[in-house]
Order: sequence, then C-alpha cells, then structure tokens
Amino acid sequence: MKQSVKLIAGNWKMNGLASSLVEATALKSALEADPADCRVALCPPATLIAQMAWQLRGGSIELGGQDCHAAASGAFTGSISAAMLADAGARLVILGHSERRAGFAETDAVVAAKVEAALQAGLEPIICVGETLEQRQAGQAVAVVADQVAGSLPLSLADQAFAVAYEPVWAIGTGLTPSLDQIEEVHAAIRAALIARLGPAGQTAPILYGGSVKPSNAAEILAVPEVGGALVGGASLKAEEFIGIIRGA
Ligand code: PGA
Repeated sequence: MKQSVKLIAGNWKMNGLASSLVEATALKSALEADPADCRVALCPPATLIAQMAWQLRGGSIELGGQDCHAAASGAFTGSISAAMLADAGARLVILGHSERRAGFAETDAVVAAKVEAALQAGLEPIICVGETLEQRQAGQAVAVVADQVAGSLPLSLADQAFAVAYEPVWAIGTGLTPSLDQIEEVHAAIRAALIARLGPAGQTAPILYGGSVKPSNAAEILAVPEVGGALVGGASLKAEEFIGIIRGA
C-alpha cells in the first residue's frame, strides 16, 4: 500500500526545562545542514511550546502537544485546550498515550472526545494504541489494538490529517521491542481496523511505531511494511540520538 512521507515525532514527556532548548536548536541546525527525507516533530512539555516555536521559526521541525482537554474552554483547573496548544504554535498533538490511559484513566471514549477537540482546533492528532505485556502473552495484542482503533477514532477523522501510533506498553522505556514480524502483524491489523472504521480514508494515515526506538534499531523498524514513522520517547531528548533515528527513515 502506498504510504505518505514518514513522520518521526519526539515525545519529551515531562522532561525539559528552558535549558533543554539547546537540543532543539542543535536539531534545527543539523536538519538545516542536511535536510531530512521525512517529517520531523517535537512534542515538548506545553510550557516550552511557545518558546520553541519562536526558536525554531523558519525551520522544518513541527511542534506538538502531548495531551489536551476534550472541552474547548471552561472551568478545568490545570488543563490545556487544543486551541491553546495551537495558539502556542503546535500543529500536532499526541492523544491516548498509554501513560495517560493508565495513569489518568483515559478510556477510548475520552480519547475519541479529545481527538474531536484537536480536529476542531486544527491540530493533527497522533492517536496511540498498544497492548500490555499480559495482553500480548495471552495472544490478545491484535484484538486489543483493533478495539482501541475502533473506540478511539471518531468518524470525523475520515477527511482529516492524523496518525496512529502503535506503542506496545511493555516496549515503552524498557529497551525491549517486538520482533519485526510482530510489528508487521500489528501494523497490518491496525491498517485493516482503520479501513474498517473510516473506509478508504483509512488507507493513507501513517501508522507510527513507538517503544524503545533508538538509532541502532530505527532503520530496520522503519523498513517494516506499514510502518509510517516513529514516536520516540527517551531517544528524542538528545538531538544527537534523535537525528540518528531521523536518518534511519
Ligand atoms: P520510549 O517512549 O521511546 O522512551 O520507549 C516512547 C513513547 O512513550 O512514546
């Protein structure tokens, strides 16, 4: 199946202070010296987005948030709306990350509502799905991610830009990765679930792989059929490592 240009997105999670912006600058310089063949995005903590947007202006690096509230505005102390992310300079937003599903009780329905909010604000959502180790060992990986795709993706995505990220929970931050065959199997299942959910519009959205991606395994993972990019946590914090992954795309 024809795939669009790959997307390599860095998820800084709750790491990064103003002093970390030196890494974003280093990444910008590296990409100016030798442009990437793929889309590159950084998703820093929300507090850094506006400053980073200024710092990275004129370059090719896109910015994203890591979550947003499902409501457009209102009395939600501590929360950030999709429009606020967009206003700060974000073009994308990660939604339904397993750390939010597990730590903040985000159900598929909550994730779907946040996706709607992101689209309303003009953001491109990266919607995360993935099985736990227990589910994989029980042979449920494919069924779990297919269910998450069906439940977390609103039908309004059909004519919008978005990505799905397959992130096995047990591979996140552990140094473990599925075999290439396992990645291929799940990505094919996600593609089928996307087409079942959205029709022909489900054929082109990139399906990223995430979970312990690093410079040494990026090229082989990115070459697996239906792997349309990577969502990178730890290895996106240092420009030198992240650029190694980008070069693998
Ligand atoms: P990791 O995290 O690359 O540090 O495993 C990936 C993610 O959680 O998006």
